[in-house]
Parts: sequence; structure tokens; C-alpha cells
Amino acid sequence: MATELSTFLKQKIESYSVQPVVYAYGTVSRVGDGVARVTGLPGRCYGELLQFESGAFGMAIDLEEDGAGVVMLSTSDVVSVGSRVRGTGRVCDVPVGDALIGRVLDPIGRALDGGEIDVKTYYPVERRAPDLVSRRAVDTPMETGIISVDSLVPIGRGQRELIIGDRQTGKTTLALDTILNQKDKDMICIYCAIGQKASTVSAVIETLRASGAMDYSIVVAATASDSPALQYLSPYAACAIGEYFMEHGKDVLVVYDDLSKHAVAYRTMSLLLRRSPGREAYPGDIFYLHSRLLERAACLSSARGGGTLTALPIIETKNGNISAYIPTNVISITDGQIYLESELFHNGIRPAVNTGLSVSRVGRAAQPHAMRMVSSSLRIDLAQYREMAVFSRFGSDLDPATKKMLDSGERLTQLLTQGKHVLYSLGEKAALLLWFRNGGFDTVDPQDMHKTADDFLYKLHKMCPEALAAIDRTGECPDEVQQQLLQTARA
Ligand code: ATP
Ligand code: MG
Repeated sequence: MATELSTFLKQKIESYSVQPVVYAYGTVSRVGDGVARVTGLPGRCYGELLQFESGAFGMAIDLEEDGAGVVMLSTSDVVSVGSRVRGTGRVCDVPVGDALIGRVLDPIGRALDGGEIDVKTYYPVERRAPDLVSRRAVDTPMETGIISVDSLVPIGRGQRELIIGDRQTGKTTLALDTILNQKDKDMICIYCAIGQKASTVSAVIETLRASGAMDYSIVVAATASDSPALQYLSPYAACAIGEYFMEHGKDVLVVYDDLSKHAVAYRTMSLLLRRSPGREAYPGDIFYLHSRLLERAACLSSARGGGTLTALPIIETKNGNISAYIPTNVISITDGQIYLESELFHNGIRPAVNTGLSVSRVGRAAQPHAMRMVSSSLRIDLAQYREMAVFSRFGSDLDPATKKMLDSGERLTQLLTQGKHVLYSLGEKAALLLWFRNGGFDTVDPQDMHKTADDFLYKLHKMCPEALAAIDRTGECPDEVQQQLLQTARA
């Protein structure tokens, strides 16, 4: 027995091999305001995670011959000059997978809603955008349920549509309503909060929960109290999570709320790292910051599974100045913008979409036939109404034709306003605009438009629900269905 044991032990000792793990170490030479400079530590890669002696993590974003500039991922970590740092050999990544649906997490994959995230797959937050041959043209609508958007600035799956406007103009509400409208539409929605107050983010989550939208949504949040580095990572992490679903053939919608704060977080990081400031003190690569993010929105070819990733970035302007640095950058990157205007918002025209300055460059191709048919002349009608409305302020005597046009424009404007979280199905939108085009609302006082429209829809739902359902199902509104709707409405 004793010899057996000693032979066994000898064998074990002989076959024992030591696998040394070699880490390169560096030393912190300067630290403060959430950034650190490290000397030594050769051979690092951009975006690599570094671990400090105290256990804190940082991300290398300035690579130099004899060191690196590092941003700290957490504001509360204690790091002091002289402490040791080691490279981890991996870049920042996020967990991805079906288990994330319904969860709230931060940009490095820590659950913010309590509990663990049980996922095995990780994606790096920075990934290459799909190349040209992996893409196809946008051809499927992504309906927002908001009549003015779906008729005038339609959005297609795989498109990037900017929501831009001053503070408190309903930007978040518009994006949220779009998420709420994706219920039962086989779409996965990701709401990415960047640099907002924690209370605002929790109100958004509450709205999503209350309306059952968390069943198909994920929230990625870096609030104003998080470090600039986390805020900077937030949209890339949300995009990486979206890409996972897109690569598995799903349709994904990602809302980035908002990219102005993202640019500011990046500016803070860059200035602290002593990178040279450019226009408005933003660093020189600020355009690349957003272009590489939004380029990852795509409509994949069938060979790549046919998934799509639609991006709705939000930008906040100051005093309606859409020609400032960051707004113009993002406008030029995206495929169109929905411009929300303070003046309209305060006049009660909500959502405050400025139809003249809002465009959708690719969505028209994806607009359902039923909608295209009834909305073809809306833009011109509205433009003429606005022009006429300006002139009519000067004169009191209006000829009957002008008066008629002004009244009609007023009614149309009222028809395009919509309370928050009030969403219309395709059939309802098409029926309302069809009835409007056929003069059905001509005798209605503009102030009563909402009530009349509600009564009208109530009637249709009662008398011919199958016609509305057919439009929803097929996206078409053939002549006989139109006649049926009009006859029912007249009855
Ligand atoms: P911030 O600049 O603070 O992010 P925001 O532009 O995202 O603001 P919201 O928070 O969406 O604006 O909306 C501002 C206020 O307007 C909210 O109180 C919201 O309830 C209200 N609101 C937004 N859209 C509508 C609407 N269609 N009908 C009625 N109220 C609305
Ligand atoms: Mg907002």
C-alpha cells in the first residue's frame, strides 16, 4: 500500500508541469478626474481592459511608446500614483444573448435590475460594420404608430433616422412610442440611455414595463453619475447587443438617447487625456465617433440571415440651431431626420414634427402601399397651408378659396397631432387620411378634430373591423376596401 502510494505520488510529481502566466506590468504615473496615465506596459491594444492593483478596471485609449492613457470605468475606484497596472489581453465586451431580453444592464454587462445575467457569449463593444456586399436595400417598414411620421417621414427596417430637437420637445417620447408600437411585430428593441438623470431612465423603464414592452426590450444605461468612459461605451455596447440579434436573423431597433451627451462625454475624456481640442473643444475624431457607431445599423442580405438593425439616434439642439457642429455631423451620417420644434410643441402641436425640415431618405421605398397612396400630397398641402397661414396674418379679408384652404390645413395639422403613447395601426392611419382626402372632415371644426377622428375610428372598428385588419395584414388598400371604408363612414 505504501509503495503504491509513493509510486502514485512520484508519477504525479513527474508529470506535473508548471504553466507560468506572464503579465506585463506598468506603473501609474498620473491619476485624476477619472483618467490615468500609465508608464511601461508595452504592446497594448486600443480599447484593452487594464486592471489596477486595487482591482479597478480602466480602458486604454491612448497608446504611446512608453505607456498608455487610460480612462477609469468607475468613478468610485481608488487608484494612486505608483500603483501597479496589468494588461488583461481582452478588449471591453458585453454579454449578448436571448437571456438579456427584459433586462437592464450597464455598458460592461453588469445587471442594474438585480440578479445575475446568465449568458455565455460575449461580443466586443467595438465591431466592424457589415460591408457593402453583406447588405441589401431597405424594403420593410418600421412603423412608429405616429401618423405624422409614418405618413411624411416613413422609416424602414435597417435605416438610421435621427430625432433632433431642443430640450423638452418630446424626443424621448417619440422614440419610446416607437418601441411601444413594436408590440407583436417580432422586433427586439434596445433603449440606450447616455448621460441622463437616473430618475429619467427609471421613468422610461417604468413606461416600458407598464405597457408590456419589456417583454421584447433591453435597456442599456450609463447615467449622468457614471464615469465619462461608461457613457462613451454605452451606445457601442447597445449596438453590439443588437448586432447579436441581427446576425441571428432578427429585426432590431436601437434608440440612442442621446448622442449629444455622448459627444460631451467623449470630449471630457479627450480633454482630460490632454488630446488637442478642435472646434467647440471637441477632439479631431469626433465625426468618427458617431459614424462608426451608426454605420453598424444595417439591413443584412439574405445570405447573412436577412436581419436588420434600425437606429434612432437622438440629438439635442440649443435654440433650434441644427447647424451646430454635432447636429450637422450626425445629420450627414444618418438617412434622414425628424425635426421637433419647440414652438410647435408649445402651441400644442405634438408630436412637434416640423414637416418641412424632416426627411427620410430611404424610408419611402419601404412605405406600405396603403400609406403611400393616402399620403402622397400631404407634404405639399401642409407646405401651402403654412405659407398661406403666414400671409393671412397680415390681411383680414380672405377670399373663400383661401379661407377653405386655411381651414383644411388647420384640420390636417390637428389630425397629425397625437397624444403621447396613443398609437394608430396601419389600417387606422390609412382610413383617417383616406377620409380626410375625400373631404370627410370638411365640415368639422378644427378644434373638434380629435373627437371626430376617435368617433370615426370607433365606427369603423364596429362596422368593418375586417377591412382595417386586412390593411394591417397586407399593407395594401385596394379600391374595394377603400369603397367599403368610405361607405361605412358615410352611413
Ligand atoms: P429632454 O430634452 O429633457 O430629454 P425630450 O425632448 O426627450 O426632453 P420628452 O421627455 O419626451 O422630451 O417630453 C417632454 C414632455 O412633453 C414630457 O412631459 C412629455 O410627457 C410631454 N410630451 C411629449 N410628447 C407628447 C405628446 N405627444 N403629447 C403630450 N405630451 C407630450
Ligand atoms: Mg429625452
